[in-house]
Amino acid sequence: MLFKEEFSDIIISGAGPAGCSASMFLSKLGIKHTLIEKAVFPRDKICGDALSGKVLTILKAFDEKVAEEISSSPSIFNPCKGIIFVSPKGSKLSIPFKHEYKSVDKAPGYVAKRLDFDNFLFRKTDSPFCHCIESCELKSIEEISEGLKITIEQDAVKTAVNTKLLIAADGSRSLAARQLGGIKIDNNHYSGGIRAYYSGIKDLNEEGYIELIFLKNYQPGYFWIFPLPNGKANVGAGMLTKDISKRRVDLKKMLMDTIQNDPEISKRFEGAVLEDKIQGWGLPLGSKKRKLSGDNFILCGDAASLIDPFTGEGIAPAMLSGKIAANIVKKAIENNNFSAAFLNQYDKKLYNKTWGETRLSYMLQKLTQWPWLFNFVVSKASRNKELQKMITSMFDDVDMRKKFTNPMFYLRLMFKR
Ligand SMILES: Cc1cc2nc3c(=O)[nH]c(=O)nc-3n(C[C@H](O)[C@H](O)[C@H](O)COP(=O)(O)OP(=O)(O)OC[C@H]3O[C@@H](n4cnc5c(N)ncnc54)[C@H](O)[C@@H]3O)c2cc1C
Repeated sequence: MLFKEEFSDIIISGAGPAGCSASMFLSKLGIKHTLIEKAVFPRDKICGDALSGKVLTILKAFDEKVAEEISSSPSIFNPCKGIIFVSPKGSKLSIPFKHEYKSVDKAPGYVAKRLDFDNFLFRKTDSPFCHCIESCELKSIEEISEGLKITIEQDAVKTAVNTKLLIAADGSRSLAARQLGGIKIDNNHYSGGIRAYYSGIKDLNEEGYIELIFLKNYQPGYFWIFPLPNGKANVGAGMLTKDISKRRVDLKKMLMDTIQNDPEISKRFEGAVLEDKIQGWGLPLGSKKRKLSGDNFILCGDAASLIDPFTGEGIAPAMLSGKIAANIVKKAIENNNFSAAFLNQYDKKLYNKTWGETRLSYMLQKLTQWPWLFNFVVSKASRNKELQKMITSMFDDVDMRKKFTNPMFYLRLMFKR
C-alpha cells in the first residue's frame, strides 16, 4: 500500500544506471527523494554489458571504494583491457585502451551482465535520503499549477502523488520523454540491437578485449563478441533502425546466419552453447539534440536519448546525466525554482560535456558506411604503430578523434607508407 505522505518533492522514475546515479548523487548532496522502479531487483536489461572507463570515473566521483569493489570482483566484472576491430574485409586491429597500459594495472573497462551490474548499482542507492519503492510503475502524468500530478501503480492499486520535480529515468520507452519532452522515435537516430549469451566460444581474448566486427551486411552497425567472466560471452548486433526497416532486416536471423555460416566466425562457435533466448531492445541515439528538461521535469539516460551513435555506449552517458541532474536539483531547491527556464541549465551543462564527442561519433558512424575506407584504415593501422597509437588515444582524447573526421587525414594516409 502506497501513502502519498511518504513521497518527497523530488521523484525519480526508473532505477537503471541513470536513475541510480541521480539517486546516489542526490543522497551524497543530502537531498531527500523517492525512487520508484517498476521491476524488482535483480532484473535483466538487454545490453552488450560493456562498461567503459567513464563509468568507473563517475563511480569514483561518488565513492572511490565503490569503483574498487568492481575491480576486486573479477567473477562478476570481467576486466577488459582493449578492443579488437575487424574490418568488413577481415583485417584485424587490436587496440589496448591505453598504449602505456601494463597488464599488472587495473583494467580500464569491464564487461558484466546487467543483471549483476544494475543490481550492484541499485544497492548503492540505499541511504537515509532515498525512499525506494520497487514494483511501482509510473502510469500517467498531469501538469498542474503546483508542479506535476503523477499516478503510480503497485499491486494493481493506483495512487496519485504531486511532485515539484520528476527526474524521468525510465528508459527508452519513457512516458515523460514522450508526453513532457515531446520526444518521438526518429529512425535516423535510433538503433535496434539484439543480445545472446553464449558459453564455449573459441579464441576469446585473454585480456578481455571486446570485439567489434564490422561485417558488410550490418553496416552502419556491427556484430559484437564481449567476453564475460567464466568463459562466457555477450554476443549481439546493432544497426540503425532506418536501415533495418529499409532493408527489412531480421536481426535475429542475421545474427544466427553469421554464427552458423560466416567462414571465420562459425569456426569459433563450433560447440558453443546458446544459454538464453535471443532478445532485442531499442537504442535512442544522441546524434540529435533534444529538449531534455521543462517545467518540473528533467530527462536522464535513454529517456533523454544519449547513446553514443558509433559505439552504442549508453551506460556512462546515463550515469553522467544522473550526476548532472542531481547538481541542478540542488540549485533548483536552493532557489525554489523548478521552471523550464531554470532547469534549462541541465540541458546546457549536459550537452556542453557530451555534444562534441557525440557529433564526432556520429561522423564516425557515417564513415563506417563506406566499407572500402574502413577496410583501408584498419589494414593500414594493423601495419602502422603510429596509427595504432593514434586510434588508442582516440578513446580518451576527443581532439584525436577529430582527425578521423578530416578528409586530409585519409589523403595523408593513402600517400604515406
Ligand atoms: C542491444 C543493446 C546493447 C547495448 N550495449 C551497451 C553496452 O555494451 N554498453 C553500454 O554502455 N550501453 C549499451 N547499451 C545502451 C544501454 O543499455 C542504455 O543506454 C542504458 O541502459 C540506459 O540506462 P537508463 O538508466 O537510462 O535506462 P534503463 O537501463 O533502461 O533503465 C530504466 C529503468 O526504468 C524502469 N522503468 C521503465 N518504465 C518505468 C515506469 N513507467 N515506472 C517505473 N520504472 C520504469 C525499468 O524497469 C528500468 O529499470 C545497449 C543497449 C542495447 C539495447
